[in-house]
This record gives sequence, C-alpha cells and structure tokens, in this order.
Amino acid sequence: RDTENMDEDDVTVRVAVRIRPQIPREKIEMCQICTTVTPGEPQVLLGSDKVFTYDYVFDTPDNQVDVFSTCVAPLIDSSLEGYNATILAYGQTGSGKTYTMGSGFDVEMSPEQVGIIPRAIEHLFEGIQNRIDRAKENGILAPEFKVMAQFMELYNEEVIDLFNPAYNKEKSYKIHEDSYGGIQVKGVALKTVTSTQEALQCLRIGALSRTTASTQMNTQSSRSHAIFTLHIKQQRLVPSDEGDSTEFETLTAKFHFVDLAGSERLKRTGATGDRAKEGISINCGLLALGNVISALGDKSKKALHIPYRDSKLTRLLQDSLGGNSQTVMIACVSPSDSDFMETLNTLKYANRAR
Ligand code: ADP
Ligand code: MG
Repeated sequence: RDTENMDEDDVTVRVAVRIRPQIPREKIEMCQICTTVTPGEPQVLLGSDKVFTYDYVFDTPDNQVDVFSTCVAPLIDSSLEGYNATILAYGQTGSGKTYTMGSGFDVEMSPEQVGIIPRAIEHLFEGIQNRIDRAKENGILAPEFKVMAQFMELYNEEVIDLFNPAYNKEKSYKIHEDSYGGIQVKGVALKTVTSTQEALQCLRIGALSRTTASTQMNTQSSRSHAIFTLHIKQQRLVPSDEGDSTEFETLTAKFHFVDLAGSERLKRTGATGDRAKEGISINCGLLALGNVISALGDKSKKALHIPYRDSKLTRLLQDSLGGNSQTVMIACVSPSDSDFMETLNTLKYANRAR
C-alpha cells in the first residue's frame, strides 16, 4: 500500500526492552539484580550509571498480554489494511526470546504464558471474522480472506523450510525479489490456514523441527534465526462513505515473527570448530540487521542506501522492514548481574537500532 494514509513522520521502527524475571538457577546462585526501570518512563538503568531510553520497557512483572497488546496487536490490525510488519526478538541465549515470541513448542504452557505468535494468530482470525460480520450487518458484500503460513529457519546463511525439513537437504532455496519489490523464497512451503487452530498446528509442526545444537551455555540454545510468517490476502469492495462501492481491491500483507539467534559473544560459550563457524554467520545476520534498522531510524539517512543485501536475514525481511512496514524489535535481557556484560551489549544494540 502507498503512504498516503500514513503520517509523514510515522516512526516505522520501534524498540522495546523486556527484562525477564530471574530463573531458578540465578536465584539459587544468589545473583543480584542489576537492572532498574525508571517508574513511568521507558528507561532502563543498568548497574549504577548506565541509562538507556527506548520506546517501551517491560519490567520483570510485566506479562505476555502487556507485551502483545502494546507491541503487536496494533500491527495485526494494520496488516488487515494491507501493511506489512515485522516483530523481532533479540538477545543472548536464555534472555527470553522464545518465551516472548511463543515460537517454541511447549506442552506444559499455561494460557497466561502463551507468547506473541499464538496471540497474534488468534487476534488475526478474530479481526477477519469481525470484518466479515460487520459487512454482513451493513448488508454489503463481505471481504474474502486468504491466510498462508510459512516457517523458515536461517542457519549458517542457509534457508531451511521447517514444514519440509528433510526435503531441503539437497536443495538450497533462493531468495528473490519480484518486480513490485516483494521478496519470495522459491520452493518454501506456504500452507493455507483457515482457522486459529490450523495456524497453531503449523506453528507446532515447525517448532518441533527446528534445528538446535547444544553449547556449554544452554543445551536448548538455538543457533539459528526462526522466521514464522503470515501472508494475508484480502479481496474487498473499495471502502466508500456512502457504502455504494462496486469496485474491488486486493490487499496483501506479510507479517514476520522472528526469533533471532542468540546474540552472545562466542568466547563465553566456549565454542570451537563448527560451533564457532555458526557464531560467525549468526553475527553477520545480527550485524546486518542492526545496520539496516539503524539506517531506517536515521532520518538524515532516509534517502540513502539501506544495506539489505549484506545478509540472508535482512534480504529475507527486506519488503517488511522499512518503507510502509511497521517493525518492532524486542530486546530481551536477563536482570542478573552474572549477565551484566551481555545485557549491556543488548541494551547498546537496541539503543543504536532506535
Ligand atoms: P531464549 O529463547 O532467549 O534462549 P527462553 O525464551 O528459552 O530464552 O527463556 C529462557 C528461560 O527463561 C525459559 O525457561 C523461559 O521459560 C524463562 N523465561 C523467559 N522469559 C520469561 C518471562 N518473561 N517470564 C517467565 N519466565 C521467562
Ligand atoms: Mg530460544
């Protein structure tokens, strides 16, 4: 969609910081809490003298609903008007990225603990139903929707289709740009989903096949970026004040949910060999992402080149980062002093992105 409806200085990239509660291990080891949120301000104090301000800050008591309704729900509503969006979870392994995004597979999760993606799916299908109901009430032709899900993983700069994880061993997927600037990944499955339940089932299937490799730091640590995408297509009568429209329009939107690879420095995890090689390409994606987001946020640089092509990650997200798309980066951090340096790195990265 074009920009005519959007405010000139509408910010397209917003940055949130989320501080998770201490996990049992940190309590047993009696780690001190080194983060303080300024009351009523989106501001974090790390240690005694490092202050950072963001668009939103979620402290340890803030829950999944707080994060979802502030950062995500408005973007889902815009996606029903044809705007693309990207939500990214950034942070070191163990900082709460997967918990926040809801991209893991956990059978023992209570309804309150459910993360962003399942909530977004539910909100989307409710929004669709509301629009259909409203049209019927007004006696006009109801819009038609088609929702498709895609679940990819980026591992060592290779695309893996999480709906066909075995199939891709021999094959490498190519990212290409169509003549309208849309990004497509050739050959990666797009599953049509007609209900919340079907979409959640896709999420579960993909989450189960995610590549994980253990490091000394966290055996469940994921060294890859997981990208869950909803493609939303809508055919409707062009809205008109008199309600007498007979013209049709097609709106398409893409909504990416990205659970990024751990941002930790390699030496801390004691990685060598293959693990170290992974670390290098992960950092390349995160580095490129930081550069793209910072270029987008910098008003003076707006007309200049945005370095999307520097990594597969930024290339893949290109049509949904910047332009008329809305992006929210959620930087996840631990509150414990044992993670002080990684938290500082994350707060700096997020600050630069803003
Ligand atoms: P990451 O994906 O960044 O490696 P996880 O999402 O796996 O981190 O979180 C690490 C641990 O912390 C998990 O046991 C998770 O359940 C817990 N956790 C993370 N964030 C929260 C939170 N906001 N509230 C409660 N527990 C959390
Ligand atoms: Mg994770």
